[in-house]
Amino acid sequence: MHKHLYTILEVAGVMPALRVSMADETALIGTLLYDSRKLADNANGLFFALEGRRDGHRYISDVYANGVRNFVVTEGKIDIAQFTGANFIVVENTLDAMQELAAYHRSRFTYPIIGITGSNGKTIVKEWLWQLLSPEYRVMRSPKSYNSQIGVALSLWQLDNMHDLAIIEAGISQSGEMEALHRMIRPDIAVLTTIGPAHDEGFASREEKIQEKLKLFDGAEQAVYSPDHTQGADVSATGEHVTWGKEGATLQVMHHELLDDGRCSVYVRYKGEEVYITIPFTDGAAMENATCCWAVLLAMGYDQAVIAERMTQLQAVEMRLEMKKGINNCTIIDDSYSNDLSSLAIALDFLKQQHQHPTHTLVLSDMPGGASHEEQVYNDVSKLLNNKGIYKLISIGPDFIKHRAKFDFLEHRVFPDMASFLTALPTLDFHDELILLKGARKYAFEHISRLLTAKSHDTVLQINLNALEHNLNQYKSLVMPQVKLMAMVKAFSYGSGSFEVANLLQFNKVDYLAVAYVDEGVELRKAGIRLPIMVMSPNPTSLEALLAHELEPEIYSFSVLDNFVRLLTEKGIEDYPIHIKVDTGMHRLGFSVDDIGLLINYLRQIYAVKVRSVFSHLAAAGDAKHDKFTEEQLARFNRFTDELGEALGYPFVRHIANTAGIQRWPQAHWDMVRLGIGLYGIGNGKNSKLQLQQVSTLKTTVTQIRQVPAGETVGYGRKGVLAKDSTIATVNIGYADGYDRRFGNGVGFMAVNGRAIPTVGDICMDMTMLDASGVDVHEGDEVVVFGDIELLAQAIGTIPYELLAGISQRVKRVYYYG
Ligand SMILES: *Cc1c(COP(=O)(O)O)cnc(C)c1O
Repeated sequence: MHKHLYTILEVAGVMPALRVSMADETALIGTLLYDSRKLADNANGLFFALEGRRDGHRYISDVYANGVRNFVVTEGKIDIAQFTGANFIVVENTLDAMQELAAYHRSRFTYPIIGITGSNGKTIVKEWLWQLLSPEYRVMRSPKSYNSQIGVALSLWQLDNMHDLAIIEAGISQSGEMEALHRMIRPDIAVLTTIGPAHDEGFASREEKIQEKLKLFDGAEQAVYSPDHTQGADVSATGEHVTWGKEGATLQVMHHELLDDGRCSVYVRYKGEEVYITIPFTDGAAMENATCCWAVLLAMGYDQAVIAERMTQLQAVEMRLEMKKGINNCTIIDDSYSNDLSSLAIALDFLKQQHQHPTHTLVLSDMPGGASHEEQVYNDVSKLLNNKGIYKLISIGPDFIKHRAKFDFLEHRVFPDMASFLTALPTLDFHDELILLKGARKYAFEHISRLLTAKSHDTVLQINLNALEHNLNQYKSLVMPQVKLMAMVKAFSYGSGSFEVANLLQFNKVDYLAVAYVDEGVELRKAGIRLPIMVMSPNPTSLEALLAHELEPEIYSFSVLDNFVRLLTEKGIEDYPIHIKVDTGMHRLGFSVDDIGLLINYLRQIYAVKVRSVFSHLAAAGDAKHDKFTEEQLARFNRFTDELGEALGYPFVRHIANTAGIQRWPQAHWDMVRLGIGLYGIGNGKNSKLQLQQVSTLKTTVTQIRQVPAGETVGYGRKGVLAKDSTIATVNIGYADGYDRRFGNGVGFMAVNGRAIPTVGDICMDMTMLDASGVDVHEGDEVVVFGDIELLAQAIGTIPYELLAGISQRVKRVYYYG
């Protein structure tokens, strides 16, 4: 999707290539590829085999089979000769090579580049600067939060002559990383947002972290930061410093004023005068971020009056790509915040990964961008839509009508504007489809989203799929590469929703899934999950369905085995994969270790089944007090599987470690581990090195606020007695939603606008009352019900598993990619 194409020889010349092997020296490079699952523009693609957690060299055959013919690889990793007709550039380090190429590309542009770093607020400041600068500049900005070592290279690769200013985000988590980012970005204006505790663990000290971030400032013409955050560190930008903060700063922050219409004003002293801006937000982070943007605009020579006017127009940054249940059994992917080529590419990749519906539909607005580049832009869009599995295209806007011939879809409906689309909506007959909404801001796609989303009460469980992926990778880093990983998605993926989670796990190539019941497995199959699935409680009445959907049963007793073998024999099936469960001390399900002799005799005589794996479950893997017992379980398991293995004479997979086992018992990983609660961000020991992220957040809203005088009571049974005049907020969640009654009468807390407020009185079936006295809270405000779920579980004497799995199915699940 680049106008400028480099020849492969030019590309090879930029990199420190050890050697090259060229089959076609005329090949042209336009797109950088690094993920075999996200290929695009294959004819002009250059694939970098990066050596991260998963070694890109292992996917070269895949990528080659998809038609890519240009590769950057590490010496000695693959046999180049087997890929006929392909170009290879062999380097010492493929990431360095990608960064060199990005730096080279960047050096061809002379328009200003703003580089942003900091602990918090980078993405907001980037997006707000884009909003603020758009009237004058054609701004290119890093997509989403592409700010890593790879993300920055890919962002810079987007520079082209359709833009005249770029905003690039730089994120680091460890010492030494900024140097590489700085070498690529070389910003003209360097911006530091804030410094907080994020990623402290990657640095020897807070000072070292600040020093590292400030490396972005080397050679910048202008430096924008707050001395409150730099803690006296030397900011070495050669040019002008524009600062905000305490006395001595360019913008000396005096005070702020909250207006009662949800806005606030920030007053500063600037060049001896008191001036202010008003923004449509009231939280401290927004004030800080807006002030940072203010300083950048002043550095760029903007007039205070223009700045003040634009600040009133700032819009909330919704970077999320949300997936929700739609009407008529549709699923809606709502990415309607912005529409440009790079965010469209990301959303299309996400669409392609989904399998739960037979039809994929894209609703797309006109693309922003000047008329001079229109032809180019629509050619690029057309290329992007290729091979993305889209069946229906619905485009909205006059430009699409002009360029309609470029889009050759079975079904392509064009509408000149939103009004005509909305009029036609009832006739469009959306049914069992996955619908991606992608629209420029002025088209207000949120209307479509609202109309297509299934109605439900406004309690939602938000599930952050990025966080889930992150947690998966954290645990993967603890197991050896040859050890397989089974992900536990029982009980609706610990409450998080089955196929959305399973789909993500499949995309991330876990080896196995496990569910509790056949029904759950059938649902996954229907949603397009092709991974092997183990069923832990294969009910005798559901075995037909199990076979029909190629699910693999856990066999825990002779009666289950008998039953299953009889069915297989009737059907003439042989070698059906089964998983033998042995009880080594949990005393729940499983063959007794003493059954080994009988089991061997049995299995030797029949051909209907073949043992795929043998496993057991640890009763107290997370508890040091029971380590002796766990060792005993491991020893029993070892003996049992050794003996069985010898008798059967063929190999099978052995596994016993759950989440806690993965962390605390590396010697017990055997051939596979079973990851459960850790995937969902919970279950990390105190001294663990793992950095887990919270996956689910349960949210609701304030339905009513009332003032209640002292001495009155709140709720059923008059349990909540008020000692003082109080503000009572009623929220839309009760025990029928999974909010435990034990949270009543002040035991539980919810968070409103960042403040924790306690429950009052008993929890009702659909509602809960909170004591919001002294807190700024309004009807309609969002309430976080489960924030720190481990703490909440403790408060009522249970475990996070119960709280998560107990969130009722009537609570809508909303998935997003942060
Ligand atoms: C639920 C379950 C797991 C996962 O346990 P976590 O503690 O959530 O990691 C592993 N194995 C079996 C048999 C299970 O039932």
